[in-house]
Amino acid sequence: MDDHIVRTIARLVGVRAMACATTNLVNEANRRHGTAPTAAAALGQALTGGVLLGALLKVQQRMALKFEGDGPLQKIVVEADSYGAVRGYVTVPAMDLPKRQDEYDVTGAIGDGFLTVVKDLRLKNLYESVVPLTGGKIDADLTYYLNQSEQVPTVVQLGVDVGEDSRAAAAGGLLIQAIPPYDVEVARQLANRVQELPPVDALLKGGQSPEEILALVFADVPYKVLEQRPVHFKCQCSKERTARALIALGREEIQSLLETEGQAVVDCHFCHEQYLFNREELEELLKEMG
Ligand SMILES: [Zn+2]
Repeated sequence: MDDHIVRTIARLVGVRAMACATTNLVNEANRRHGTAPTAAAALGQALTGGVLLGALLKVQQRMALKFEGDGPLQKIVVEADSYGAVRGYVTVPAMDLPKRQDEYDVTGAIGDGFLTVVKDLRLKNLYESVVPLTGGKIDADLTYYLNQSEQVPTVVQLGVDVGEDSRAAAAGGLLIQAIPPYDVEVARQLANRVQELPPVDALLKGGQSPEEILALVFADVPYKVLEQRPVHFKCQCSKERTARALIALGREEIQSLLETEGQAVVDCHFCHEQYLFNREELEELLKEMG
């Protein structure tokens, strides 16, 4: 199944819902970062959460999610836009922990700390909010953030089925959100149904598509499919942007790279693409700086 997200709305009862399949993008991210299984599960969940929250944004808006705790994984950073592109990394990709109750201990990996959400809504200032991590899973943290900080009744469920080889057999997520004025009783019923359904990764693994998962959630509640869109791991780095970052380091730093290495190799945090600047290119940058 190709990675994609489906957005739906049930206008009569005031609920929007979306479901996504992210298996390929999770595998692409984990391959690029060389993550151990626990780190792979954590990054996969956070990226899938980014896909869902990104789909709540308007055109051209962007957001970043940062899970930062006192656990051995240290930090997960994910960036998403409204077009279905996400990228992300974990600080310690080799981090692995013993499983707990047959699940990767993502909660223990992150530890106690904070979730910071930064939104670029194309306004003058960035919009930032910080909530404490719940001590639960990543989907519990995102649910808490949306309910507390944005004050919108929402349920997020993420499912990432990662094997011992760090590869995901299935990954995806589900988000149900009330939109005022909503029918409190129906919103509660739908949220309960999400809890009762098998986890999203199990449904995807069983061959159900995001469309079919949403049909299970809504059951007899009438709803409309608004959009289906591919989602993917996509980094925004480029040689051009990397050159600008080098220039920002300053003249002395470039001089010193020239003298010691004779070149510069810049590795992108988000995707591990490497950009090589040879002697001539570095000298060109110096010239540009005047
Ligand atoms: Zn990159």
